[in-house]
Order: sequence, then structure tokens, then C-alpha cells
Amino acid sequence: MAALRSAMVGQTVKDDSISITRCLQPTYMSSIVLFGPPGAGKGTQAERMIDATGLPQVSTGDMLRAAVKAGTPTGLEAKGFMEAGQLVPDSVIIDLIKDRILESDAKNGVMFDGFPRTIPQAEALEQITAVTHVIAIEVPDERIVERICGRYSCAGCGSVYHDTFNPVPADGCACGHWEEKRRADDNEETVSSRLSAYHQQTSPLADWYRSKGIFHAVNGDRAIDEITVDILNALKV
Ligand code: ADP
Ligand code: ADP
Repeated sequence: MAALRSAMVGQTVKDDSISITRCLQPTYMSSIVLFGPPGAGKGTQAERMIDATGLPQVSTGDMLRAAVKAGTPTGLEAKGFMEAGQLVPDSVIIDLIKDRILESDAKNGVMFDGFPRTIPQAEALEQITAVTHVIAIEVPDERIVERICGRYSCAGCGSVYHDTFNPVPADGCACGHWEEKRRADDNEETVSSRLSAYHQQTSPLADWYRSKGIFHAVNGDRAIDEITVDILNALKV
């Protein structure tokens, strides 16, 4: 992991990670995309990759929820789409990303979680930052409802948990500010719209990125730790 972080910031790497350096060393900046259906585990894996990659997690879902909570014009525009389980218009999302990428922590690139979700978003992203790896976390539809309906997070730090598969420790979240939070759209009715949006509008991106030679699929229907290992291996290609 340390070697990967060194490669990201362009320091000398003396071990067997020369290929990592070649792939990940930014020209001006280089980013990673975590791709997959709602509930696939993108946020869960992103949390674990921050140290390994040295890249900040950029979740358009989190940004939109913050905008809705703050009642900004973006939030007001996005709210109805999110409640209905539909995608927020591309123009709104692209403007959010253009602003986010200008922040100082993004200067070496970022780790996108839940973006891009359409081909126009991916085309816009090409003008904003170089993407070196698209990691697709593959999970069959029949697993998605149980994942999403059991999801909760820590309001203090955003860590993601699950009622059955990944419960918060008995003494609360490691951040020390444990407070349970559940999303309004994490219910069975909205999940089916979100899955339809994924299959119709987002999944065509897999072939689009595959044709660019930067697409890596991992089996997301396994233990969280096993998936993390696969993603780290994919990032070393
Ligand atoms: P999940 O983690 O379950 O996939 P997200 O938190 O990524 O959900 O997104 C929640 C909602 O925010 C989506 O259902 C959609 O309405 C909106 N959203 C998030 N990211 C995008 C995006 N890149 N394009 C369009 N809509 C988005
Ligand atoms: P996404 O960001 O893709 O919408 P999350 O990371 O929020 O997905 O994960 C959705 C839910 O599934 C969360 O409750 C999380 O704890 C749980 N989860 C994540 N990965 C796994 C896994 N490999 N096996 C079982 N549950 C998982």
C-alpha cells in the first residue's frame, strides 16, 4: 500500500511496483473510478482505498445529499430525482465535479464513487482529469435489495455499515462520534428504479471503458476483505 501511495505522488519506488509507477504516476492528475450498481460496495471499498491510493473519495451521491440538506439550488433541483430513484441531470452532476476537482486535495487526482453514471458524464470527465483505472464491482441484482435495505452509516464520519453483513462494533464507530444514519432512498420501492436506471443508463459505460483498456471487473459477491485485495491487485496492473 505504501508503495502505491509513493507511486501516486511520484516518489522513487525501489521495490517491485515499477509497473504501478508507470500506470499511476500522474501527468497532470490521474483518477480512479469505482463503478457498479447501487449497493455494490463502492463506498465501502472507497473508504478502504483512501490510504492505499492517497486519493480522496469523491461521491456524487454524498455531494448531492449535502446539497439537499443545505437547501442549495443544486439540492433543490436534485431532490425529486433522488427520491424517485432516477439519475440527476448530467449538467448538474458535471458542474459539481468541475468545482470539486479544483479543490486542493484533488490536485493528484481523485477516486470517483458513483460517477460517471452516463456516457455524457464520462465524456465530460475526459476533459477534466485522466482516468487510469475503472474498477467495476460486479454484484447480481438479487443481492442488491438486501444490501441496500440493510445499509446504515455513521453520521459522524460517514463509514458504511450493514445490519447483517457489516454491523457497527458493539462500542460504536471507531471515529468516536457514533450516530446511526439511514438514507431516505434506501427502500425496496426506490431500489427497483435505481437498478433500472443502472441497467439502462450506466451499464453501457462498461463497454465504453473496456474499449479504452482501463476496465477491471472484480467479483463483488464475496467478503469485503477479499474484494479489497482484488481491487489493490487491479490497481497494480
Ligand atoms: P448508491 O450508492 O446507492 O449507488 P448514490 O449515493 O451514489 O447511491 O446516489 C444516490 C442518488 O444520487 C442516485 O440514485 C441519483 O439520484 C443521484 N446520483 C448520484 N450520483 C449521480 C450521478 N453521477 N449521476 C446522476 N445522478 C446521480
Ligand atoms: P455503494 O456505495 O456501491 O452503493 P455501499 O458501499 O454503500 O455500496 O454498500 C452497500 C451495503 O452493502 C452497505 O450496507 C455495506 O455495508 C454492504 N456491503 C458492502 N460490501 C459488501 C460485501 N462484500 N458483502 C456484503 N455486504 C456488503
